[in-house]
Amino acid sequence: MLSGVWPIPCAGCGAEGDRRLCSACTPREALVLEPAEMLAGSVASARYDSGVGRAVLAAKGARDRALVKAVAQAVAPVLAAAVPQVDAIVPVPSPWTRRLIRGFATSSLLANALGAELGVPVFHHVLSARRGRRQATLSTRDRRSALAGKLRAHKPISGRVLLVDDVRTTGATASACARELLGAGASEVFAAFACATLREDG
Ligand SMILES: [Zn+2]
Repeated sequence: MLSGVWPIPCAGCGAEGDRRLCSACTPREALVLEPAEMLAGSVASARYDSGVGRAVLAAKGARDRALVKAVAQAVAPVLAAAVPQVDAIVPVPSPWTRRLIRGFATSSLLANALGAELGVPVFHHVLSARRGRRQATLSTRDRRSALAGKLRAHKPISGRVLLVDDVRTTGATASACARELLGAGASEVFAAFACATLREDG
């Protein structure tokens, strides 16, 4: 090894290099999404069927916090360039049991990366999700819809808020979060996702 560095397989495409997400898998420009109900705007750094989507799935499956942070840092600049000026960032919460099991919440790590990129404070404890019935048998889509009914805002918030999540499927979770944030005092809510299922993906 001339460089003295072991090649690392990209979590998005498997190509060997020196980064967890290679430059080919790193998004250059955000996708503008049709915003779900209650949202003033919505962007994603990539579609779900992409290197970013595969890396997010791999990170969650392996509980790989370092990979989540690497993906968050790779996508934060394109998301930051695509969102309007905001006053606060709020991650979509995970039910506490799942966060405890994984040891991290991917939306929180992404929110931190975006907060650093934009110089905007991140509020991790405005929204929370009540623990629900065991969801292991539900599909990802149903699980996220079930989560939407359990979200609550516990603290007041003001100004324009950027809601952050790793994956958008139906947008039901983001809508439920936005409704809570508007009720808690936000003037507008925008959303930014690492990746999104587009309508044509089914
Ligand atoms: Zn790659």
